[in-house]
Amino acid sequence: MSPRNPYHRKAGRPKPERLPTQDEIERDVRRLKAGHSSGSNYREKSLELHGMICAKCAREFTEADRRELTVHHIDGNDKNNPLDGSNWENLCNHCHEAEHSRGRLGDYLRGDD
Ligand SMILES: [Zn+2]
Ligand SMILES: [Zn+2]
Repeated sequence: MSPRNPYHRKAGRPKPERLPTQDEIERDVRRLKAGHSSGSNYREKSLELHGMICAKCAREFTEADRRELTVHHIDGNDKNNPLDGSNWENLCNHCHEAEHSRGRLGDYLRGDD
C-alpha cells in the first residue's frame, strides 16, 4: 500500500477557490444569448417561435420542405433581431417575394441558406 502524503492535510492555507458571483453568471449568460441572436441563427429561432407556417398564405411546412420557408424582417433591417421575434415573419417563397416585390430577394435567399 502506498503511503498517503503526510503534507496533504496540514499544508497551510486552503486554496482561495473563487466561485463566480451571481452578477458574473448573468453577464455570461447575456453575452451568450447576444452571440446567438446576432448570428444567422435567427432563422431557426423564428421558425421555432412562429411555427413552420407562412404568415400570409398559411401554407404549412414540414422538416422536408422547411428550407422554402424564409424569414422576413418586418422593418426591413436584417440586423434587427429581437429575441421575442417581433421583427420576424415566416413567409413562403411566393409571399416573401410579393412582400419585397422589387427583386433583390434572390440575393437574400441565396445568402440565407
Ligand atoms: Zn405564403
Ligand atoms: Zn423579407
